[in-house]
Amino acid sequence: MADKSLPLQLAGLAAAAALGAAGMAMYQASKAKAEAAGEDEPLATDVDRSKERIVLVTGGSGLVGKGIEAFLKSDQEAMKNESWKFLSSKDGDLRSRKDTERVFRRYRPTHVIHLAAKVGGLFANMNEKVEFYRENVLINDNVMECCRIFKVQKLVSCLSTCIFPDKTSYPIDESMVHNGPPHVSNEGYAYAKRLIDVMNRCYSDEYGCKMTAIIPTNIYGPHDNFSIKNGHVIPSLIHKAYLAKQTGGDFNIWGSGTPLRQFIFNQDLGALTVWVMRDYDEPDPIILSVPEDDEVSIRDVALMVAEASGLPMEQVKFDTTKADGQFKKTACNDKLKGLRPDFKFKPIREGIQEAVDWFAANFDKARK
Ligand code: NAP
Ligand code: GDP
Repeated sequence: MADKSLPLQLAGLAAAAALGAAGMAMYQASKAKAEAAGEDEPLATDVDRSKERIVLVTGGSGLVGKGIEAFLKSDQEAMKNESWKFLSSKDGDLRSRKDTERVFRRYRPTHVIHLAAKVGGLFANMNEKVEFYRENVLINDNVMECCRIFKVQKLVSCLSTCIFPDKTSYPIDESMVHNGPPHVSNEGYAYAKRLIDVMNRCYSDEYGCKMTAIIPTNIYGPHDNFSIKNGHVIPSLIHKAYLAKQTGGDFNIWGSGTPLRQFIFNQDLGALTVWVMRDYDEPDPIILSVPEDDEVSIRDVALMVAEASGLPMEQVKFDTTKADGQFKKTACNDKLKGLRPDFKFKPIREGIQEAVDWFAANFDKARK
C-alpha cells in the first residue's frame, strides 16, 4: 500500500531542520504523538472513494460477513453508489482502541455494519463467560465510539435472540430484550450484547448518531465455524456427521434434542442486513428471523444433518449427559414481515444440504 503521508513527513522534516536542534526535537515529539494517535495513518486504497458510501463491515470474514458478500454478488444496486470493505481481525484487533482508531482512520467509512464479536455455541459460552463479556464489551465500545468520533452516518450492530430473557412469554418481540435476566448459560455474552441496544439510544439522544441493531436467530451456512468444541449446533453437527460417515462411528447429538430453535441461512441474513443498512431508519432493533412456525427441535435438525450427510440412522445417538441450554427463544418476526412482506427464506432442509456440501468440499480450509 502506497504511503501517502510520506511527502508530508518530508516537508515536516525539512521545516524542522531549518529551525535547528530545537525544531527537530519538537518535530520528533509531535510525530510520536501523531503516531500514537494514529493520525498519520494513510488512507486505504482498497475502497473506491468516488462512491457516495464507503461501507465497512467489521467481522467481515465470518459467517454473516460471507453471507453479505454472497448477497452483494447478486445485487447490482450495490455497484452504483457503495464501495464495501470486509474486515477480519488481521486488519486490526478491535478490542484495542488504538487499532480500532487506525482502522477508522484508514477507511473513513460513511456506514458501518458491525459484526465482529467473540462468538460461540452453548458450550463455549458456558465455559468462557468472562471472556465473552469482556471481549465483546471492548469491541463494541471501541467501534461505537469510533463511529461517533469519525462521524459515521449510520451504524448497524448485531445482537442475537439468545440475549432474550429466559423466563418470558412467547413469542418474544423487539420491546422485550431487557425484560428479565438472560439464560444463565450465556449471561456474559448476553449482557455485553444488550449494552449495544442501550448505547444505540444513548448515542442517538446525546450526539444525534444514527445507530441501530439487528437481532438474528441462530445462523448457519457455508463459512461457519465448524468447531465441535466451540461451534453452534448446526456446524458442530455437520462436522460430527462428516467424521461419523468417515469412521462408521456414532453421530453424537448433545443434550435431549427437545430444545426449539429458529435458524436463518447466512445469505438470507446477508440480504436482510444490507436492507437494514440501506432502508431501516429506527434506532430500535429489528428481529431478523424466519416465522415462528418454522421453529424446529434440535432432534429434527440433527436428523436433517444426518440425512444430508448420507448417514444411516443407526449411527445417530443422543448424549443426554450434556446440557440443553435455553429451552426456546421463539422470536416474533411481525416487524420484519410488515416491512418486507415478500422476503422468501431458504427452507432449512435446502440450507442444511448446502452447508453440508460446502463443508465436505472445503474440509481442509474450513474453520474447525
Ligand atoms: P464468526 O463467523 O465467528 O465471525 C466473527 C468475526 O469477528 C470474524 O470476522 C472475526 O475475524 C471477527 N473478530 C473476532 N474477534 C475480533 C477482534 N478482536 N477484532 C477484530 N475482529 C474480530 O461470527 P458470525 O457467526 O459471523 O457472527 C457475526 C455476528 O452475528 C456477531 O456479532 C454474533 O454475535 C452475531 N450472531 C451470530 C449468531 C450465530 O449463530 N452465528 C447468532 C446470532 C447473532 P477473524 O476471521 O479474523 O477471526
Ligand atoms: P444456543 O442456541 O445459543 O443455545 O446455541 P447452540 O447453537 O450451541 O445450540 C445449542 C443447542 O443444541 C442445545 O440444546 C444443545 O444441547 C444442542 N446441541 C446438540 N448437539 C450439539 C453440538 O454438537 N454442539 C452444540 N453447540 N450444541 C449442540
